[in-house]
Amino acid sequence: MDARGFRYGLLGCLLGLLSAPGLAAPSFDALLKQADDIRTGDPTTFYKLLSQLERQQESATKEQRDKLRLMRAHGFLMKGQSELAIQELQELGTGSEDVNLRFRAGAMLANTYAVTRRFEQGLSALNEALPLASKVTDRDSRHHGLMAAGILYNQVGEYSLGRDYAQQVLDDDPKGRSRCLAGNLVVESLLGLHQPVQEEMIFSAIQACEQQNEALLAGFSRTYLARKWVADGKLKNAIDVLERHLSDVEATKYPRLIGEYHSMLADYRMKLGEIGAAERHANTAVAQGTAISGSLPLVVAHRVLYEIANTRGDPAMALEQYKKYANADKAYLNEIKTRELAYQLVRQQILQKNQQISALDQKNQVLQLQQKVDQQAAQNTRLIVILLILLIASIGYWAFKIKRVQLSLKKMAETDALTGICNRHHFTIRAERALAECARNGEQAALIMFDLDHFKNINDRFGHGTGDWALKEVAEASKGFCRRIDVLGRLGGEEFAILMYGCDLRAASRVAEDCRVRLAQIETRETGHVFAITGSFGVTSTQQSGYSLAKLLSQADKQLYRAKHAGRNRVCIYDAEQENARATSNVLEMPHRDRAEHLGA
Ligand code: GH3
Ligand code: MG
Ligand code: MG
Repeated sequence: MDARGFRYGLLGCLLGLLSAPGLAAPSFDALLKQADDIRTGDPTTFYKLLSQLERQQESATKEQRDKLRLMRAHGFLMKGQSELAIQELQELGTGSEDVNLRFRAGAMLANTYAVTRRFEQGLSALNEALPLASKVTDRDSRHHGLMAAGILYNQVGEYSLGRDYAQQVLDDDPKGRSRCLAGNLVVESLLGLHQPVQEEMIFSAIQACEQQNEALLAGFSRTYLARKWVADGKLKNAIDVLERHLSDVEATKYPRLIGEYHSMLADYRMKLGEIGAAERHANTAVAQGTAISGSLPLVVAHRVLYEIANTRGDPAMALEQYKKYANADKAYLNEIKTRELAYQLVRQQILQKNQQISALDQKNQVLQLQQKVDQQAAQNTRLIVILLILLIASIGYWAFKIKRVQLSLKKMAETDALTGICNRHHFTIRAERALAECARNGEQAALIMFDLDHFKNINDRFGHGTGDWALKEVAEASKGFCRRIDVLGRLGGEEFAILMYGCDLRAASRVAEDCRVRLAQIETRETGHVFAITGSFGVTSTQQSGYSLAKLLSQADKQLYRAKHAGRNRVCIYDAEQENARATSNVLEMPHRDRAEHLGA
């Protein structure tokens, strides 16, 4: 006999169990609990309680009304009003905030669909409910949900899934009724998987069911035992156990189980050649009518009747029975196919859904990555901009510093440290440039040169510091006579020169004279000493000496020397006649270098 035949029957038992555990607290809750407890054992009282609850529901909380909904669904189911039950359970599955209740409703819905042979919807309902299992805090509710999964998967031939769910319940050391049903489910799925089943396992399931007065489930357990024994060659033991409990089974008035017993007994009796008994049992099985249509027991019963007709040599009857047998077999195979197809359809739907989800996930990941990359790029750009700004700022800073150093070096190189006016070198450069420009523009220029008188004496008498102070005062006073375009310089020691831009000899002579007067007026009291600062001046111009600086310097120096010689503190101006007259003078032929010695002598 095909193992797939075992799957019938357990479903109805679970529907009674699904609206499970007790609810504490006052009146309404107490009534709910009572209804929940007796709903399978005492339908009459259950319906009374249900009407009582319905009358009181106005004062009930949302949670209590949800629990009532579950009881109501159970009531509809017992009356065979599965559509109404489905409606209640669907609303409960989406509307309740209690995860325990949602889970119970989902599991019950799955089984209700299965009872009405809508396996596809049943499996879908199950797939929606099962993910809640880990969140369900109520143990009984969780067990019932898992067992609902076990039943449904066994029904569609997915025995390994069925076994896994039932085993989860058994591993959790369940209470009486759940132990009975879960035990049955594990045995059913093992037989379906053609895996060995321990006798102890079946006995333990039978015992659990007997303790709970679950005659129906105990009855199913014994069919498993009988099958195992037949498989082990213990045909008589199998017949014995079935016959011994036949009256209990008939008392359940459950056609599926009754049909199964008689069908099995018919098969086994036939195997022993007890045709009469086999025929009686087969006919009783067939008499269960539409309740067992599309089931294996009906196929077996018809097959036995066909074999009996054959054995009796009644071809007409044999043909008649064969037709029925063939029809029953076809209906049964159709039923199997329908269930398996439902499973495959739901599985495909889930796969498709999962694929869509994973595609969306991947798309999301790509988007997130893209976002990260964009953020990183923006951050990098910001960093680069900041770095560039820093770089430019530091380059600017260093350029500024270098420029400042350069400028200060330049200034140091160009100016005389003591007086702050041009040093000899820079004076030469600027004066030559100015002369060149005057030459280009056809303008004149003049050169004033002066040397402080008896300066050595100042140093000697008042100290070098006072001498320095006097040099600075002289430079400062001289600046007053220079325009921006003129060039003032300290040629060395206490010797100064001014190149007057665009000036002729006369104008320059006036400036020299003014300057001489101004020096003599320098107030020295602040040094703590009173002394006179005077200078001797020599003046020449380009008209007399040409645009060569060297020539101008040399001739101005000659005039300066003349001023010293003439008694100092005076201005001597280049005079061509005098120059010529003196050209013969010995003094003038004396080397310039020796002049100081000469003057000092
Ligand atoms: P004369 O009227 O003939 O020019 O007499 P003099 O004393 O000015 O001439 P001399 O060349 O003999 O002296 C120049 C002195 O100037 C010599 C030197 O000590 C002094 N001197 C040169 N440079 C400086 C300086 O930077 N600071 C000070 N305090 N004295 C200086
Ligand atoms: Mg001097
Ligand atoms: Mg001198």
